Amino acid sequence: MAHPLVLEFLTAIKEAVFNQTLDVCSRWAVARRVMPDGEPYSLDDYPYAEAILNSRAQKNWVMKCAQIGLTEAAITIATFEVDYHQRDVIYFFPTGKMAERFSKTRFDPAYNFSPYLKSVVEKSLELKTIGNASIHVLGANSEANLRGTSAGRLFFDELDAWTERQIYMAEQRAAGQKNNDKIVWGFSTPRFPNCGIHKQFLQSTQEHYFFDCPHCKENIELLWEDSFVPCGDSVDDPRVHDSYIQCPRCKQKLDHETKKDWLRSKTRGGTGEWKATNPNADPRLARGFWISQLYSPTVQPWELAVGYLRGCGDEAARREFHNSMMGLPYIEDAHKVQDMHIDACVKKFAIRRTPVHVNEGIFTLGVDQGGPVHHWCAVQWLFDAKRVGDPNDRAIGRVVGCGRILQDNWAEVHGLMRQYAIRRCVIDYFPEPTNARVFARTFGGAVYLCQYVKGAAAREVRLTEDDYGANLCRVDKVSWLSKSLGRIINGDIELPLDLPLEFRQHVKAPVRTLKERDGQYVAEYVDTGPDHYANALAYAEIALKILDPALHSASIITKTR
Ligand SMILES: [Zn+2]
Repeated sequence: MAHPLVLEFLTAIKEAVFNQTLDVCSRWAVARRVMPDGEPYSLDDYPYAEAILNSRAQKNWVMKCAQIGLTEAAITIATFEVDYHQRDVIYFFPTGKMAERFSKTRFDPAYNFSPYLKSVVEKSLELKTIGNASIHVLGANSEANLRGTSAGRLFFDELDAWTERQIYMAEQRAAGQKNNDKIVWGFSTPRFPNCGIHKQFLQSTQEHYFFDCPHCKENIELLWEDSFVPCGDSVDDPRVHDSYIQCPRCKQKLDHETKKDWLRSKTRGGTGEWKATNPNADPRLARGFWISQLYSPTVQPWELAVGYLRGCGDEAARREFHNSMMGLPYIEDAHKVQDMHIDACVKKFAIRRTPVHVNEGIFTLGVDQGGPVHHWCAVQWLFDAKRVGDPNDRAIGRVVGCGRILQDNWAEVHGLMRQYAIRRCVIDYFPEPTNARVFARTFGGAVYLCQYVKGAAAREVRLTEDDYGANLCRVDKVSWLSKSLGRIINGDIELPLDLPLEFRQHVKAPVRTLKERDGQYVAEYVDTGPDHYANALAYAEIALKILDPALHSASIITKTR
């Protein structure tokens, strides 16, 4: 039996040696972090994460997709800096709310699962302290947070939601460190090219993850166009489950089930490694890593196929596919209806002159007020049972009538309400709210005045009343014009043979572009001529949205047709 003092000495040596081996973040992670399933953090599951954990470049930019395990990597690095290096860390989020949520739902559970971290971390909402060093979890939307605490280690989360000024101010928090010893990490899903994380990535080493194909042994990387074989024609097609990842060289299938094996890193006996694609960047100064869900151990190939197919018909879903699944920035094409789009929508029917029966389905009316004439557009809506989403996503429109009415002739608008058995009508509020309001009140709940507002979320409709008790809806113009003009571009609307030439001209007039506002890109329409029919069509679309609860009866009507 050894003397207790000797035992104590031996234990101390053992711990000191153990601690020494933890000087690299990836080894520290395996020893100190425990995942929710009770197992130690594993580099086998995320072979691409090791190099990111261990990078000591001054700036590290990770342009990533969702569900790739790299949020855990960010938590791991931040905690390693505090625990092992005893350096203060500021972990910035775009807003205080996001910081608070992340602190509660990601940091705290991460520490509670690990017996070691649970015993050493002192937790509060804004501070995670180990010994003499802390992680400050802060929102970058507060001037005080941007000016207060300083630290040599900075983390920027969701960089694409940041303004240029916030980034600049936050970087100043690392100024004045001894020996200029500062390290910055940014983890974000990109949004638009050349801003946010993508802008930083472009100035970095731009590293991609390469590995040897298990079949042909060529050194390859996974890129969507060459490496993915989507199957099926729509998201509901059972064949999407046959979709798979392939080697871009030999075209053989790369099994999802053995992904860990063929992606295994060189440091762990495999062939995987990050390779710089930008020879001009100094890896000591700025490293950048890009990774897509093709590499994700959890996202199945069929899920990628669904994301891709969804994006084929819907602009918002296309952005989601590029940003969150491929980890790539995305910019919409300048969007404009062209004659070929209109021609493809024209079907063999004429503008309806005879009255519609109530049981013929759902009809809505959009009226664009103007002087000296109003433009109107009546749309019949048919529902496709195979489609998913809200009524507007599921509906196919048919323009059954459109035309002009003299400004003061509201009686004629009354006539349209009856002729087309209109369920809901939307009229713009300006330029003449008074008569429109009188008209709206006459038809009780069936007529809404519409105001375009900024700041409404995409395709959100806020229903309210104006000061005189008329029904009012407030909507985002860009989202609704995109939806209704997108119908013509995508062939989701049928147009009559005798479509007025003016209708053609008006729907071709709005051109969709992107404009920078406070460092963020936002879509907007630029008018290249009168666009009254385009607005009337959008109002008829909004009218359908207002009818939302009636969707159920609508589908029954469609079935009986
Ligand atoms: Zn191959």
